[in-house]
Amino acid sequence: MSKELESAYQPENFRKTGHELIDVIADYLSDVAQEKIPVNKWKEPNQQLEFWKNYQFDTNNPTAFFKEIIDKSIHIHHPKYIGHQVTPTVPLSALTTLLSAILNNGMAVYEMGAASTAIEKIVVDEILKQIGYPTDEADGFITSGGTLATLTALLAARKAIAPSDVWENGHQEKLGVLVSEQAHYCVDKAARVMGLGSDGVITIPVGGYFTMKTELLDKYFQKATNNGIRIIAVIGSAPSTSSGMHDDLNAIAAFAQQKNIWFHVDGAHGGGAIFSKKYKHLLAGIEKADSIVIDGHKMLMMPTLMTFVLFKKKSDSFANFTHKADYLFQQTEEEWYNMAKRTFECTKEMMSIKFYVILKTYGPEVFDQFVTRLYDLGAEFAEKVKQNPQFELALSPHSNIVCFRYIDKQLSEKELNQLNSKIRSKILKQGDFYIVQTTLNGKIYIRLTFMNPQTTSTIMDELLSEVEKCSKLTNASTGSA
Ligand SMILES: *Cc1c(COP(=O)(O)O)cnc(C)c1O
Repeated sequence: MSKELESAYQPENFRKTGHELIDVIADYLSDVAQEKIPVNKWKEPNQQLEFWKNYQFDTNNPTAFFKEIIDKSIHIHHPKYIGHQVTPTVPLSALTTLLSAILNNGMAVYEMGAASTAIEKIVVDEILKQIGYPTDEADGFITSGGTLATLTALLAARKAIAPSDVWENGHQEKLGVLVSEQAHYCVDKAARVMGLGSDGVITIPVGGYFTMKTELLDKYFQKATNNGIRIIAVIGSAPSTSSGMHDDLNAIAAFAQQKNIWFHVDGAHGGGAIFSKKYKHLLAGIEKADSIVIDGHKMLMMPTLMTFVLFKKKSDSFANFTHKADYLFQQTEEEWYNMAKRTFECTKEMMSIKFYVILKTYGPEVFDQFVTRLYDLGAEFAEKVKQNPQFELALSPHSNIVCFRYIDKQLSEKELNQLNSKIRSKILKQGDFYIVQTTLNGKIYIRLTFMNPQTTSTIMDELLSEVEKCSKLTNASTGSA
């Protein structure tokens, strides 16, 4: 064996560098929690590329590289990170990622991930119980992200509602799905990957609350049917990403039942609220869904990627990929322990252990505390916005996603859009806060997602003053006021 290979696999090198890295990460977590570093140090993409092209990697000191990566990354654990919906991971859970990376058990067949396969069944059962599905009739598994999970669920919908030989012969019939115009892009992506095309993604308008106008479902269903499209599924958002608003799942369930089509719930963001005694009501009707997607890396404190895809009927969780791979599988009956028969992935990460370690250390209550705290922060911020005449709230929030904007009576809607977009961009580049923007009904809003339970009321006040300050600077410099 070469000197390099020997060094690469040397356990003592790992021990030394590993200890150093853990110390660096612990110091980092303490620094961000105390806001000793800004949430983000903005560099334009080409500047970032230049930096790394010129970076002198020290072969004797990988820790220097780790520190540089931290420095050049956005800090999700920072209390002023109020941007996209990725969770500040629980460090204990992140440690299991390291274990998974070392063990590298591929999970495709039982032998290649015995412990993580059994644990996957245990954590999935916990989620099924929280949803209110009868655990002996329902089933599910973990997959790599909400987008892939959505494709998996819609493939099951097609198999159940429009059984055909599509796996052998491809598409014959024109199929479609019904979804709110505010739904996440992953539904559109999945439908198009499945060959449904533009005609197959039928978007239902939203009402004043940015939720699906369920009273229009029948009209759109009829129209599609008249156009020769067979509707296989209707999808509810819980909540939709942009506005954070929840569709009426009971109304959608009733429609799906009446038409005998599949009911899917996209709970990638808010599905975790099944754990929250205070906010579970937002998901009323979720237990009627044929399939549900819940991202662990959004509201369940897990490292990316980790997504639950759950089915009301056990057999649907086995139905998708029943092609033959004789070198992997000898038997054909439903084997819960040979995961690649059920998932899109062949090899997949040992994702279950990340959830299990938190579930067992802190109990399911910790997920209740996390979701409840973050949704409470959303409500608290909305109150502050309502009380300040300089700001306008888009909607009273359902969740931890809150959209608001700076207003100035002298400005037109177009100027307000420009102003709010400039404010957000200025704040991004300053790096003290991380916030994003969205467009609702043609109006640009600053969009917050409270992801960190350490974000405080004081931080909210600081953010509002910062927005106000930036509005003055931006306005003056552009001369638009
Ligand atoms: C984030 C999100 C998705 C996509 O999930 P990924 O894990 O990012 O692939 C789907 N739907 C909703 C509502 C989301 O918020």
